[in-house]
Amino acid sequence: MYHPTGPANLPHDVWTLIAGRTAAQSVRDLCSLRMSCTAARNAGEEDIVYQFASIPIWDQRWWSMSPMRQAGRNFLARCMQSGNLEVLFRSAVSDLFLGGSRLAGMETMQVGAAQDHSAAQYTVSMMLMLRDDFESKNKGLQTFHVLEAAGALTICKLVFHDVIQGTWTHMRRLPMVNAENLVCSSHACPSRGNMGAIYRSQRYGRGWDLNDGDGGAAHIPCVHCRADYELILFVHLFD
Ligand SMILES: [Zn+2]
Repeated sequence: MYHPTGPANLPHDVWTLIAGRTAAQSVRDLCSLRMSCTAARNAGEEDIVYQFASIPIWDQRWWSMSPMRQAGRNFLARCMQSGNLEVLFRSAVSDLFLGGSRLAGMETMQVGAAQDHSAAQYTVSMMLMLRDDFESKNKGLQTFHVLEAAGALTICKLVFHDVIQGTWTHMRRLPMVNAENLVCSSHACPSRGNMGAIYRSQRYGRGWDLNDGDGGAAHIPCVHCRADYELILFVHLFD
């Protein structure tokens, strides 16, 4: 019997909204929804649904790596094409630190950073500051300064930490911070060279110390030294 007000007769935009909201909660629920009727299946094909799909980190890792998961890989590829920033960020982390192409990883990370994904901005900033040349360090420092002023560092570190800790330890390609490539190079700076000691006292005195507002190097007036402190934290996110 024909039901003019039945769910299958909802406008496409409404179905798209429903599919988008469902995808933002659970990809599995989205799959069930798409199988319910033609209208839902069509709405589930819209870019915006892929753009905001929320994929558990273990699923993304498993789909990316297992040759058996072609459907999952296709889904991830659609998410990337549709501008899903979380999927893009994780993929860039994987390329940068887990054996993909570093160059491609950095380029993808910069795409995410340009679209205001703050964890991508944070990662770009750290990677630039770890380089040896002044220009890269300076660019990285500027982004670091913006994130610090916005109070965004803690959440960025938590997001990055989640992604990198969702991988196998033996696969990680660790960034290094050496004494000679630290950001503060002023011999007149009274705090220069002390960030490692502050890090150790924070970490071993209080346990994990991702929270910037609570101790750390926030009291140090030199922004270059605070950046160095964050670089030390950054490389220890891989521990
Ligand atoms: Zn300094």
